[in-house]
Amino acid sequence: MSRMASRVASLGTTIFAEMTALATAKGALNLGQGAPDFNPPPEVMTWAQEALQTPCHQYAHGWGYPEVRSAIVEHARHFYGQTLDPQREVLVTNGATEGIFAAMQGLVEAGDEVILLEPFYDSYLAGVLMAGGVPRFVPLHAPTWTFDPQELRAAFSPRTKLILLNTPHNPTGKVFSRAELQFIADLCQEFDVLALSDEVYEHIVFEGAQHVRLATLDGMAERTLTLSSLGKTFSVTGWKIGWALGSADLVSAVNRAKQYISYASASVLQWAAVAILNWTPHYVPALQAMYSAKRDLLLSALQASPLIPSPPQGTYFIMADTSALKCADDRAFAAWLVEAVGVACIPPSAFYNAAHRSLAQNWARFGFCKTDETLHAAAHRLERLTHLA
Ligand code: PMP
Ligand code: GLN
Repeated sequence: MSRMASRVASLGTTIFAEMTALATAKGALNLGQGAPDFNPPPEVMTWAQEALQTPCHQYAHGWGYPEVRSAIVEHARHFYGQTLDPQREVLVTNGATEGIFAAMQGLVEAGDEVILLEPFYDSYLAGVLMAGGVPRFVPLHAPTWTFDPQELRAAFSPRTKLILLNTPHNPTGKVFSRAELQFIADLCQEFDVLALSDEVYEHIVFEGAQHVRLATLDGMAERTLTLSSLGKTFSVTGWKIGWALGSADLVSAVNRAKQYISYASASVLQWAAVAILNWTPHYVPALQAMYSAKRDLLLSALQASPLIPSPPQGTYFIMADTSALKCADDRAFAAWLVEAVGVACIPPSAFYNAAHRSLAQNWARFGFCKTDETLHAAAHRLERLTHLA
C-alpha cells in the first residue's frame, strides 16, 4: 500500500522533469523544459558575485530585504505606473511557483471555486487541489487562444473565489489584449472575485503585442494579486527569486502561508536582485531583440516542416499543430519525436485537466530559450520530418 498522502498521490511527475529526463537519456536537443541553455547576461553574473561578498548569508527578512522590495516597487512604477507600499504590498517569494502555492493556501477556502483558463501552467491545478479548492475550467480556443465570453461568464458563480490568469501565456504564447482583460475584470467585479495574475513573461513580448497588467485596470488594484519573477527575464530560472504584489490584505494572506513554507527566500540572490531589478529598463530592449530573433529561427524551422506553428505574441514558447504526423496523441508524438529526430518538446496535455486532455492531442510545445546553435541544430533535425509525414 502506498504511503503517499492522497492529496499528492494523483499529481504524478511534472512533464518538465519527465521530458528533460527523456531528452537527457536519449541525447535529444531539449526544446521541452523552458530553461535557457545559456548563461545570464554578464552584468547579472557580476552582481551575483558581488552579492556573495556582501554580509547577507543569514535569513533574510521574511518579506524580503527592504532594498529588494523597494526595487520591485520601483519596477512596477516604471513599467506600469503602479504605486505600491514596499512595507505591506510586496512579498519576495521562492520563484512565482511558491507565490502560486502560497496564494492558494492563503486565499482559497476548502470548497471555494477557482477558475482556470485551459491550457494552464501545470502547478495551478496542483495548487488549487492542495488547498481544497474546486477548479472550474474554461477553454482557450486555437488558433487565437481566446476564451468564449459566454463560456467564461458561465464559469463565474457566487461560489467563485478567484480566477487564475497568465499573460503572456504559457504554453500558447498569447498576450491577452486590454479588451479581453477588461472583460475578465468586469466579471471579477460583478461577482466579487479575486484575480491572481501570473506575469512571469511580462518582458518577453514581440512587435505588435503589448503586455497589460491586470491590476492596472479600473477597480482591479484591490482585488488582484500579481506574481512575477527574475527567472525568464534574466535567464536565471534556477535562482527562484519571485514576488507577489497587491493590496496589503492579499499579500499578507500569501505571507501567512509563505512563512511556514520557506520562511524567507535565498538571501544572496535577493541581494543581487536589487541591482538586477534596477537595470531592467536598460536590459529589456536587448532581451526582446534576442528573443524575437530566436522566435523567428524556430518559427521558420517549424514552418518548413509538416508541423503548423501558431506564432506567439510573447513568452519563449511556440505551439505547433502535429496532425500531419498522425500520432495517437500529444504524449505519443513527444516520445516519437525524441526517437525519430532527436528533438524534445512538451506534450501540452499536461496543461489540461484529465477530462479535457484530448483538446491537446494534436499539439506540441517547443521552447526557443536556447542558443542559436541549439536552434540551428534542431532546425536541421526537424527537416527530417518532411520525409516522415
Ligand atoms: N508561471 C508560469 C506561467 C511559468 O511558465 C513558470 C515557469 N517556470 C512559472 C510560473 C514558475 O516561475 P518560477 O520559476 O519563478 O517559479
Ligand atoms: N516554466 C517552465 C516551462 O513551462 C518549466 C518549469 C519547471 O520545470 N517546473 O517549461
